Amino acid sequence: MSGELLLLAPLRVEAEALRRGLRRLPDGGESVRLVRTGYGPARSKTAASAFAGSDCGMVAVGGVAGGLADDVKVGDVVVASEVSYAGGFGGSSPRASTAGSVDAVTRRCPSAPLLAGELRRAGLRVHVGPLATVHKLVETSAHADLAAAGVIAVDMESAPLLEGAGDRPAVVVRAISDTPAHPLVSPHTVSGGIAALKSLRLAAPVLARWAAAVGPRQVLLASPRSFCAGVERAIEIVELALERYGAPVYVRKQIVHNTSVVAGLEQRGAIFVDELNEVPDGATVVFSAHGVSPEVRQEATRRGLDTVDATCPLVAKVHAEARRFAGDGYLVALIGHGGHEEVDGTLGEAPGSTALIESADDVAKLKPADPDKVAYLMQTTLAADEAAGMVDAILDRFPSAKGPGSDDICYATTNRQRAVRAIAAESDVVLVAGSANSSNSLRLVETAQRAGTPAYLVDRAEDIELGWLAGTRTVGVAAGASAPPAMVGQIVDALSGLGRVESREVVVATESVQFGLPRELRQ
Ligand code: SF4
Repeated sequence: MSGELLLLAPLRVEAEALRRGLRRLPDGGESVRLVRTGYGPARSKTAASAFAGSDCGMVAVGGVAGGLADDVKVGDVVVASEVSYAGGFGGSSPRASTAGSVDAVTRRCPSAPLLAGELRRAGLRVHVGPLATVHKLVETSAHADLAAAGVIAVDMESAPLLEGAGDRPAVVVRAISDTPAHPLVSPHTVSGGIAALKSLRLAAPVLARWAAAVGPRQVLLASPRSFCAGVERAIEIVELALERYGAPVYVRKQIVHNTSVVAGLEQRGAIFVDELNEVPDGATVVFSAHGVSPEVRQEATRRGLDTVDATCPLVAKVHAEARRFAGDGYLVALIGHGGHEEVDGTLGEAPGSTALIESADDVAKLKPADPDKVAYLMQTTLAADEAAGMVDAILDRFPSAKGPGSDDICYATTNRQRAVRAIAAESDVVLVAGSANSSNSLRLVETAQRAGTPAYLVDRAEDIELGWLAGTRTVGVAAGASAPPAMVGQIVDALSGLGRVESREVVVATESVQFGLPRELRQ
């Protein structure tokens, strides 16, 4: 197979819009074979038979379509997650069924999220979802049934065209020219068509970027990855609190630093707040896995709030060490990132006796009353090598400084950093699943980068830029301790839409740590 993209456009105007968009490419679109395939399912089938034997390595279908979902507007772009024949082909398709129903899935397009993300970054309004190929575009009742079945757009060609693509990576991009609110035959026909063709023109260069990222790959899965015992416990605590006390249950700060975890719990009735003054009297409030300062606990008691503490026991251990050292008259040098909730909570344990150390330079600013009474502690999610440099700086200046009884950087952080180092050594690029405010996920990105491998944080598959993947043969995938395991599955699935994927686990440790639930929720 060649690295040439076969770009299929049913109509002349669609082909022309795509051609004009491709002219913006550095090579003027030379690397793309643009073919006009003709209007409707029958011509599409004929065209599909003709190109089925072509040596192009990947196939894209581009054109206009009718939007069905309420939020799909004229000028928007739909990237098909899957393409089905809808009913009414009357036997012309082996998958024909009754009018208005969605038949067996003709084809999934797993790389749709990657393409959609790239189109959004190009400034387009994009939807990802099922697309159906129908035999008539103006058939209101059948389209309503399709919309009810979850189909977000309809066209008349994509399903038969994708049959011709065979096993090759394939995508479908359709710009919306009409919707139920702006029907095909209406005063909006011309303006809708112009808006759709403009979007199609803008989408064309992005299709070339998608094609450049196509290729078979090995995926190295860092293990351990995803949820640690503290995160699992914190999520379970909110779920049990919702069951036991009923919605809403308030949670101070994000229970764990992950957008999809927070969104999922919000759907079930959790309300996330920044401070206790947002919690109504008499409500139940959960403290997040990152811990809180004594001041917050006192405020909750003063307000008479019911509290459930989801602080990770390993964070609580650092709090206890801070109290012990401060109680023994030590100045506590807390190595961590200012503004992080865990650091705020630990600083709050002994505010008059604790100094934050964010860099080796901060060590020079320490002013202990007694140079022999300096102790150091750490945020649990630091990069081990980064923290070691600051410990060295503390010990250089205060040779008798005392450290924690056991490592503050927790087992989960350490294991995930070892695993990401192992995959980085063999990968062309590393993708780390995690949210932007997740400290341990960010440290995984930095750890891979320090190992000399380009690495990126990915909150969802759409965040992956196609340019990161172009030319790569081995992709490492890791996940921060707050990133759901399903996120890794979504990334690997999206990569599989760019070509055959062989996955291999790179195991550096196995974990069996479990933490018990707080007393209020046991039973
Ligand atoms: S990363 Fe470590 S400290 Fe943080 S919740 Fe997980 S186990 Fe606890």
